[in-house]
Amino acid sequence: MESSAKSEIIEAIKSAGVVGAGGAGFPTHIKAASMAEYVIANGAECEPLVRCNQELLLKEPEKVVAGLELMVEATGAKQGIIAIKRKNKAAASLEKLAAEKEHLRIHYLKDFYPAGDEHVLVYEVTGRVVPEGGIPLAVGAVVSNVESLYNVAAAVGGQPVTDKMVTVTGAVQVPVTVRVPLGTAARELLALAGGPTVTDYAVIEGGPMMGKLVEEDAPVTKTTGAFIVLPAEHPVVSARRASWRTVLGRAKAVCCQCRFCTDLCPRYLLGHGLEPHRVTQLVAYGIADATAMTRALLCSECGLCEAYACPMGLSPRYLHAELKRELGRQGIKHPGGLPEVLRPDPWREYRRVPVPRLVARLGLAQFDRPAPFQPVSMSPASVTIPLKQHVGLPCVPTVSVGERVSKGQVVGTIPEGSLGAVLRASMDGLVTEVTDRDITIEALA
Ligand code: SF4
Ligand code: SF4
Repeated sequence: MESSAKSEIIEAIKSAGVVGAGGAGFPTHIKAASMAEYVIANGAECEPLVRCNQELLLKEPEKVVAGLELMVEATGAKQGIIAIKRKNKAAASLEKLAAEKEHLRIHYLKDFYPAGDEHVLVYEVTGRVVPEGGIPLAVGAVVSNVESLYNVAAAVGGQPVTDKMVTVTGAVQVPVTVRVPLGTAARELLALAGGPTVTDYAVIEGGPMMGKLVEEDAPVTKTTGAFIVLPAEHPVVSARRASWRTVLGRAKAVCCQCRFCTDLCPRYLLGHGLEPHRVTQLVAYGIADATAMTRALLCSECGLCEAYACPMGLSPRYLHAELKRELGRQGIKHPGGLPEVLRPDPWREYRRVPVPRLVARLGLAQFDRPAPFQPVSMSPASVTIPLKQHVGLPCVPTVSVGERVSKGQVVGTIPEGSLGAVLRASMDGLVTEVTDRDITIEALA
C-alpha cells in the first residue's frame, strides 16, 4: 500500500484518540503502524452479562467491517478475520458483509470464557501461540476490539472518540445498552436502566470476572464496557472486597495444592509457564523463588482460578495481581519467551469453561438478561474526563478553567514521543475544573 495512505489512516486514528475499547486501552494508532499478517476483530465479548459489543455489531456492522478493512490496509495484512460466537445475532449480516470481500472471513468461537483474551483468541483463530510475555504481533496478528474498529472508521471519516457504548445491567429495572458521552457518571446510566431494584447495592465497572467496584460518580471512559449493579452481599461483590490479609491468610490455611487453578488456567493451557498453584504456595509461605515469582507476570487476571476453579474459594488471581504490582514497582519484567517452545496442553479443548456454566457458578443466572440498544440523547449537566484512559502516560490538559469548549475539541494531548492517546471534549460546555487526574466540563445554561 502507498505509505501516504497508511500514514493518513494512522494520523486520523491518532488524532481521534482511538484506543482498545475492550481492554486496557492500548492506543490503536500504534497497532495500525505495525505490519501484520492478520487483523482480528475481537467480537468475543466473553464476560458474562456484558452486551455492548453484540449490540454494536447489530446496530453498525458495516462500520465495524469498514474499520477492519482500514486496519487491514494500514497493516498490510493478508486477511481480516471477524471473531464472534455463533450466538451473536449479527452473525448473518457479518457473514454477508465478509462474503463481499475476498480478504475478510468470519471465525466462529465456542461460547467459553475467556475467548476474548488476546492470547486465547489468537490461538483459536490462527493456531499460533503468542510467546510468554509477548503480544499478538509476535505471531503476525493484530487484535482490535469491534468498537475500536468502529472508532477507526469514524476517525477516518473525521469523527473523534467522544462517546462510548455501555451496557447497564444486573439488579436494574430494565437492562439496556446505550451510547453516551465520555465522562458521564455511572449514576446517570443507572437511571437510564430504570434504577437499581435493590436498596443496598454495589456497582461494578466492566464484567463480573475482570471488572472493578466503583462509586456511582465513576465516569464512563474509553474502555468502560458495562456498569453492573449487584446486591451488596452478592459473592461477586464480596470477593472484590476481600483484603490482602484475608486472601493471604486463607491461602495459607486451606490451599491443598490440588492444582485445579493451574489445570483450568487459560494461559497455562496455552503452554505458558504460569502455574497458579505454585505461585499461591510461594506467596502464602513467603518463599523467595525469583523465577517462579516472575511467572506471575504471565497472568491475565481473567479470574477463572478464583471464580470457577478453586474448590476452597481461594483467590490466586488476587495474589498474582498483587505480585505483579510489586514486581512492576521493582521494575522487574518477564524476560519473554519463544513461540516454538510452546505446546498447548492436549486437554485444553476439554478444559475451556462454557459461559453458561460460569454464569451459574457466579450466581448470576437471574441477571443474565438481554440488554438491547436504546438510542438516547444524553445531555449530562457535567462530564468528568480522566486524563488517563489508555495504556501509556496520562494526557496533559490543553484547556484551562473558564474556557469554553465544543464537542470534539482536543482537551488533552500526550507528551511528545510518549505512548498514549489524545482526549477530546465529549460535549459543548465550560471547563470548571482541571486537576492532575481529570478535566470537568459543565453544560452551559
Ligand atoms: S485450586 Fe485452590 S486449593 Fe487448589 S492449588 Fe489452587 S489455590 Fe490451592
Ligand atoms: S487469573 Fe488465574 S486463571 Fe486467569 S490467567 Fe491468572 S492465574 Fe490463570
